[in-house]
Amino acid sequence: AAPGIAGLTPYQPGKPEGELAREYGVSDIVKLASNENPLGPSPRALAAAQEAVAGAHRYPDGGAWALRQHLAAVHDVAPECLIFGNGSNDVLDLVARAFLAPGRSAVFAEHAFAVYPIATRSAGAEAVVVPANPADHPQPFGHDLAAMAEAARRPGVAVMFVANPNNPTGTWVDGDAVAALLAAVPREVIVVLDEAYVEYALDVPGYVDGRRWLERHPNLVLTRSFSKAYGLAGLRVGYGIAHPAVADLMNRVRHPFNVNAAAQAAALAALEDEAHIARSVAENAAERGRLTTGLESLGLRVLPSAGNFVCARVGDAAAVNEALLRAGVIVRPVAGYGLPEWLRITVGRPGENDRLLAALADCRRGGL
Ligand code: PMP
Repeated sequence: AAPGIAGLTPYQPGKPEGELAREYGVSDIVKLASNENPLGPSPRALAAAQEAVAGAHRYPDGGAWALRQHLAAVHDVAPECLIFGNGSNDVLDLVARAFLAPGRSAVFAEHAFAVYPIATRSAGAEAVVVPANPADHPQPFGHDLAAMAEAARRPGVAVMFVANPNNPTGTWVDGDAVAALLAAVPREVIVVLDEAYVEYALDVPGYVDGRRWLERHPNLVLTRSFSKAYGLAGLRVGYGIAHPAVADLMNRVRHPFNVNAAAQAAALAALEDEAHIARSVAENAAERGRLTTGLESLGLRVLPSAGNFVCARVGDAAAVNEALLRAGVIVRPVAGYGLPEWLRITVGRPGENDRLLAALADCRRGGL
C-alpha cells in the first residue's frame, strides 16, 4: 500500500436493517444510526429525482448548472464560488487532493469526523490531531480552536478541518472563536468549515454560520450537505463554497459527472420546499431536547448537541449496543472516535425516540 494507507481504519457504516432483522430475528427496526432525516426527503425532491431517472441514458450536467445558479442566489455568491460533490465527503476529499501531498499535513481535532484522517492520508499527507476540550469544558470533547490555530503554524500544514457542529460529539464552536481562528491561521492554510448539520444549528446559542467570513478569508472553504436536513443521504450530493481561485483548484481534481442527475434534480427541488426543511428542523429541535432529557433522567450524561444526534455516556457501550440491537434499535458506538463509553444516537421521530428510551431503560433495569 501507499504510505499511511495500511494504518487507516475504514469508515464504519451502520448495520443494514435487513441484515440486523435476520441476525437478531427482530422486525420493526428503528434506525437511529446515521444522522439521517427521519421525516424523509421532500415529496417534491422525490418526484424530481424520479423524473430525472427517466433520462438515465444521458450523462448528468457535469457543471450542475441549475443547482449552481440557485445556490449562488441563495448564498449571494458568484456561481464560480461553488463546487459540487458526491456528498460533502467528496468535497472534503477534493480539498485534500487539491491542497495536500506527501510532506504536507492537515490539522483536525481529536474525536472529529472520521473522513478527515481518511482524506488526509489518502493524499499521502500527515495528520496533526489536536487534543479536544476536557470533559468539564462547556463544549466537552469539542474542538479547542485556540490549540488548533497554534498547530496551524507548524511547518508543512496546508489544510485544517473544523466540524461545526462536530460528529460524533454534537459540540459546536461559537462565532467569536471561529473569527479568532481565521484571524490567527496563516493565509496559506486552507480552513475547511464543515457545516453538514448547519440547518439544525442555526438556533443554537453562539452558533454562527460561516458565510460571513468568506469575503475576508480567501482560504476558507465551507462545506454543506443535502444528506442531513434535506433528507437526501442516499442520493449523495453536497457542495463547497470558497473563493473562486480555491474552487477552481478543487475543480481541477474533481471527477467529471461526480454528482448524478437524480441527485442534482432532487437537491434543487428540496431547496425549493422550504416548508419541509422548516418542519424537519423544528421537529429535530423539539425531539433533541426531549431525547436529551429522557437520557438524562436515565442517569446518563449527554453532550450538548447542535446537530440531529446526541452523544450519551452509557458505560459498557458494546454491551448496551448489543442489547439495543436485540431490541431492534440501531445506534452508533463511537469507540473508533476515541469515546469507548459513549453511543451516538440520531434524533428520530417521537415514537422512535420513545422506543430507544424504553430499550435503554430496560438496559438500566438489567444492570447495564
Ligand atoms: N461532515 C460531517 C461532520 C458528517 O457527519 C457527515 C456525514 N456523516 C459528512 C460531513 C458527510 O456527509 P455527506 O457526504 O453525506 O454529505
